[in-house]
Amino acid sequence: MSTHKIWRDGGLVDWQDATIHVMSHVVHYGSSVFEGIRCYSTPDGPAIFRLQDHMRRFLDSCRIYRMPMRHSIAELSAGCSEVVADNELQACYLRPVALRTGEEMGILPHKAPVETFIIPWVWGRYLGHEALEEGVDVCVSSWRRPAPGTMPTLAKAGGNYLNSQLSKMEARADGYAEGIMLDSFGFVAEGSGENLFIVRDGTIYTPTIGSSILNGITRDCVIRIAKDLGYPVVEQSLPREMLYICDEAFFSGTAAELTPIRTVDKVEVGAGKPGPITLAIQEVYMGIATGKMPDRYGWLTRVESRVTV
Ligand code: PMP
Repeated sequence: MSTHKIWRDGGLVDWQDATIHVMSHVVHYGSSVFEGIRCYSTPDGPAIFRLQDHMRRFLDSCRIYRMPMRHSIAELSAGCSEVVADNELQACYLRPVALRTGEEMGILPHKAPVETFIIPWVWGRYLGHEALEEGVDVCVSSWRRPAPGTMPTLAKAGGNYLNSQLSKMEARADGYAEGIMLDSFGFVAEGSGENLFIVRDGTIYTPTIGSSILNGITRDCVIRIAKDLGYPVVEQSLPREMLYICDEAFFSGTAAELTPIRTVDKVEVGAGKPGPITLAIQEVYMGIATGKMPDRYGWLTRVESRVTV
């Protein structure tokens, strides 16, 4: 998984030198926020997908946790391009992460310095090799997303992923690719690292940001592409049983991209294979990301390669 260089607060360091002390605040109290971004290989070289939007959410997460971020969106974005170019990567995944470090114990985080890293690595299909074409088998998790007023789910904070880990471990132990968590009111929320969409009678439904979800950037892509393809999109609270009577269902996420859902709790979704609306949106999403279709929404940031041939 390792690449050569990691961006650390404005400079590049060797992979093995990107370390922090065990007394760091983040190790004991979970004080980190992060992003997950994909860079795609396109005919014009590597291109980072929705870079500005990810950086904006990164800064939003810092703000929610009152974490002083000393780098601007422009600086962080340049850092992302730099690690791709310097490591001579094409398609890869980028993980900006801001951590509270220091060597002082105590919950109050204000004295702990904030350090920022951008880590690149090559990451293939997140939910399995054939997931994008064949779809995945999932369950409804016994774990709920955090209730409003507990852990803010709009922040992409490391601590939120303890909840995701419980759900994911349970799903995998029971033989499923992923678990769908409900919110504290029993409405459908999301997967451990993906947003969720369902289709019924040609209309696309997805939970609102009030259902304890992360406001996914791929979710936003899906909504925009779907509307432009002429499908109505409704954001609303979704009762669990909609999962069993919908025609199509799919996950969206940077890592998971657009992954069709084949079964939920062993009940076939529609015909038990990826549906036409899911595939139509997936085709445009992947087409734009990989540079095979025109970038009509301005989602790609090209990386100037340092390799000269
Ligand atoms: N929900 C959760 C909990 C996630 O971790 C992710 C992945 N970042 C998503 C949804 C999808 O968000 P995005 O499309 O921005 O990757």
